[in-house]
Amino acid sequence: MGHEYCGIVEEVGSEVKHIKPGQFVVGSFFASDNTCPNCQFGYQSSCMHRERVGGAQAPLLRVPLADGTLVATPGVPSDDLIPSLLTTSDVLGTGWFAADAANVKPGSTVVVVGDGAVGLLGVLSARQMRAERIIAISRNASRQKLAREFGAALALRGILPPGRLDVRLVGARPDPDCRPRIRRPWHPHQRRLPRHDQDANGAVDDRR
Ligand SMILES: [Zn+2]
Repeated sequence: MGHEYCGIVEEVGSEVKHIKPGQFVVGSFFASDNTCPNCQFGYQSSCMHRERVGGAQAPLLRVPLADGTLVATPGVPSDDLIPSLLTTSDVLGTGWFAADAANVKPGSTVVVVGDGAVGLLGVLSARQMRAERIIAISRNASRQKLAREFGAALALRGILPPGRLDVRLVGARPDPDCRPRIRRPWHPHQRRLPRHDQDANGAVDDRR
């Protein structure tokens, strides 16, 4: 979509204080000041001064609010790390946000609805947050395989007509302690903030 980006800073504007030319940086597809109340609460994608960043499939990109938007790495990473760093610009950041918003904790049972890039990286994020059991709902065999590689203990075949969730366990019985809550998907393009009312069995809902 052209809004994921990372790279080396060529030059900075006169008001940029912290980002320096020559640094390797990763940015978000919403520019944010990282100082307003929304940013301070951790919702930089809802920054009061946010600006959309696009057109990143280009040799050069102008990033507004550079001090708040860009994160510099400690040094210039090796070439083989750059594809992974690029995912932090969008799909990994969104998957991590979803797992964080679902209040995933060590020992949690987590259900991830959807097996797109964000859903799969939601699985990876939940594993990093030391969830004990991660269930990925998927109808795609190759993505189920990836979900397992990323830490999902079970992969389910899901059928998701509007307003209804019908899942079938593959090779296992349902866990009676797992009470997934299907909630409105969060998308970084929405202004509405995610709700923080999940119970201990956090659910991550991704249908991108
Ligand atoms: Zn802000």
